Amino acid sequence: MSEPIRVLIVEDSEDDAVLTLLELRRNGYEPTSERVDSAEAMSAALDRQTWDLIIADYAMPRFSMSTALTMVQEKGLDLPFIVVSGAIGEEAAVAAMRAGAHDYVMKGNIARLAPAVERELREAEMRRERRRAEQERERLLADLEDKSKELGQLLFISAHDLQEPLVNIQGFARELELSLQKMRLSLEEEDIPPAVKEKLAVTIDEDITDSLNYILASTSKIDTLLTGLLKVSRLGRATLNIEKLNMKDLMAEVVDDFEFQAREAGVKLEVGRLPQCQGDRAQLNQVFSNLIGNALKYLDPERPGIILISGKKEDSNVVYTVEDNGIGIAPQHQETVFQIFQRVDPTASSGEGLGLTIVRRILERHGGKTWLESEPGRGSRFHVSLPIRDW
Ligand code: ADP
Repeated sequence: MSEPIRVLIVEDSEDDAVLTLLELRRNGYEPTSERVDSAEAMSAALDRQTWDLIIADYAMPRFSMSTALTMVQEKGLDLPFIVVSGAIGEEAAVAAMRAGAHDYVMKGNIARLAPAVERELREAEMRRERRRAEQERERLLADLEDKSKELGQLLFISAHDLQEPLVNIQGFARELELSLQKMRLSLEEEDIPPAVKEKLAVTIDEDITDSLNYILASTSKIDTLLTGLLKVSRLGRATLNIEKLNMKDLMAEVVDDFEFQAREAGVKLEVGRLPQCQGDRAQLNQVFSNLIGNALKYLDPERPGIILISGKKEDSNVVYTVEDNGIGIAPQHQETVFQIFQRVDPTASSGEGLGLTIVRRILERHGGKTWLESEPGRGSRFHVSLPIRDW
């Protein structure tokens, strides 16, 4: 079965063009073609229709293969371009390939043409496929970015608007507490029969008080959640001010804030060599404050604490590591701890389960990432990777 193919032949000799087409037909192609031998004709042919392949003679009196190639490139077309020539020296062949021709075939060895065409058509299709995939990827990423912005706004508005009724509930619950106190005082009055007093005291001191305490505890929990959501949402919208950062200085500032706490707890806090990076100073300060704060918080009371901070360049990234010899994190929690409000031990008194969510969010916005390695009972290593930008 012959394969239809649209060939633009850049050739001054009609005979040679016929031979080329014959060679293609003999190898199972069914070419529709046009022959051009000047810049004007070539330009018009490229504009008029889509081509699968260009076969160009190397040397023509009125036109040159390299001009033809440049025209194709300038029109942004990615077409297989094969040079077929009678006499092409090695240097000329190399120059043609360097300029962007895909292959060259000697007229005396025309049998090489069909395999070269087959290979180049296949590769051009693969390039088109890759471009389509890349465009699709970009479209999906832009879509995702839009959706994520929309969700972020929804989150912010919901959390913000829920705060108002919550404040009202808290306020009225406190009003009810005051009313209860007044009722308690009224119960002291003498003209109330003791049986009624006793009944009312149970209702006031147990039933209503318990219910009120539940309401207040729940509203306080909602308040913490909403405040946390607003904090993360604000962080996602804050403008990033990316600058070159001397990490030695930045880390010294962060470590300084924990110096007292570490000394009191007898913890060794060591900072190694740190390559510089590019990022938002305040946000990266927050990242390392959260990580070092956690390293201190989750130490094992059974052994002296050691926290090591280090950094290195890895390909096109800088990777910093905060390592501790604390309680560690079991494998099943190693990913969930980055999710909002997730804590390995929800009953532990301090912490709201936001620190690592904030770390991850900040790194995402920097085009970087964060991950951890940990062994329960031995300690954890939190890594932070930031891309090196070329400026
Ligand atoms: P928080 O510390 O406020 O609970 P984070 O988001 O900072 O919230 O951390 C989530 C959970 O991950 C913590 O509750 C803790 O269980 C675990 N975790 C974080 N850092 C460490 C660490 N260095 N060692 C052991 N566990 C940790």
